[in-house]
Amino acid sequence: MSYAIDQLPDLAPLGGHWATATSRDAAFGHAVEIGQALLPSVEWPYQPSQCPAHRGTWYLDGELLLCDGCSIDIT
Ligand SMILES: [Zn+2]
Repeated sequence: MSYAIDQLPDLAPLGGHWATATSRDAAFGHAVEIGQALLPSVEWPYQPSQCPAHRGTWYLDGELLLCDGCSIDIT
């Protein structure tokens, strides 16, 4: 389960910030707003709606897990 956008951890220690992206809710099929991280040193190859990745990388000393494909919060 993802955090609400206004509850996402601060990315300032990494020099980044949050954007919002639209994704499909897997259970209900409607569009939902999700947080997508933007970090200066990392590029992600996919948009959330097309992302095939199912694993992530931890940031902020294990506080935040970002998808390896599209950088959404999957903590
Ligand atoms: Zn992804």
